[in-house]
Amino acid sequence: MSRQRYWGTPIPLIKCPKCGIVPEKSENLPVTLPEDVEITGEGNPLESHPTWKKTTCPKCGGEAQRETDTLDTFVESSWYFLRYTTPSKYWEEVPFRKRDTDYWMPVDQYIGGIEHAILHLLYSRFFTKALRDLGYVDLDEPFKRLLTQGMVLKDGAKMSKSKGNTVDPDEIVERFGADTARLFILFAAPPAKDLEWSDSGVEGGYRFLKRFYERSERAKPMESLPTFDTSKLSKAEKEARKKVYQALEKSKEVYEKSFAFNTLIASAMEALNALGAQENEEIWSEGYWVLTNILEPIVPHISWEIADRLFKRANFGEIPIDIKALEEERITLAVSVNGKRRAQIEVAKDAPKEEIITKAKEAATRWIEGKEIVKEILVPGRLVNIVIKG
Ligand SMILES: [Zn+2]
Repeated sequence: MSRQRYWGTPIPLIKCPKCGIVPEKSENLPVTLPEDVEITGEGNPLESHPTWKKTTCPKCGGEAQRETDTLDTFVESSWYFLRYTTPSKYWEEVPFRKRDTDYWMPVDQYIGGIEHAILHLLYSRFFTKALRDLGYVDLDEPFKRLLTQGMVLKDGAKMSKSKGNTVDPDEIVERFGADTARLFILFAAPPAKDLEWSDSGVEGGYRFLKRFYERSERAKPMESLPTFDTSKLSKAEKEARKKVYQALEKSKEVYEKSFAFNTLIASAMEALNALGAQENEEIWSEGYWVLTNILEPIVPHISWEIADRLFKRANFGEIPIDIKALEEERITLAVSVNGKRRAQIEVAKDAPKEEIITKAKEAATRWIEGKEIVKEILVPGRLVNIVIKG
């Protein structure tokens, strides 16, 4: 677990010619790296540093040398999640407290690249099991669930500094803001898939956020969700509410199960478009009440600002799904063949003609099969008549 590199945690052991290998005194911990090293790419900079390794033996006080190997980085990453459970004020005394790991562990969701699946996961499971055997934790497995995220590609290749095809996130943040960078990454692909970096995709994300921000002017401030008498709403108003609640429904599935954030963003975009097709100020407010709530984990800055201005952030909590808004108005139509009533179908009130005709033909299959259809007549809201030859 040690290596001959500067970049790592110093191993707090001292080599004394008389006493052998002696641990550093606790009061001298942690042993920190010198900051004035020269990194030449050859040899271990700790070895060649003029003073760092020179010390005295904690046991006999004679001249001695520090261990110049450092710990591989995985040594710390294999148990840091245990340390995070414990408040930092205890970190000087203990690595972590068992009462805290008992409360917080295991980690609900682990997200990492594929390289973690064989290295970090393996090491941290080993550390957890060793710490369990030593009595430090009551835990067999550190992580409950794994999501292996895809890589970011540029022009079809993995982004890497050595290939020189990296995108500087600071530049994107500088030009478009952090929300756009986050939105683009989550919208471009489901998290388990690789994502191809696209400048036009970034700009598309930016345009959506700009619209989202500007249109918030059309909502009025509220302290709670408005209620509606749906029988008095227009078709466009009902459609807007339906899209908003479909997005809310989607968010529950996405955040709790699938993590398909791209589909949630698509739903939010549809909802914003549907809101734009109507003028009802209260429906705009309801829309923003829901949309800033469900987009907050994805674009926190914009969502907080709008939610703060319109709702004093009273909308940042569980929002009930208005089932009524999701219901489609359905109607029953008769299906006749050559004027004779044969079947009936149920369709959405605003279903397109092609959809209604297809459904009617399915329902009347046994009367029209093998026959030549001469005409299909739709009498809206009432019936479909299919005219056949013979
Ligand atoms: Zn000694």
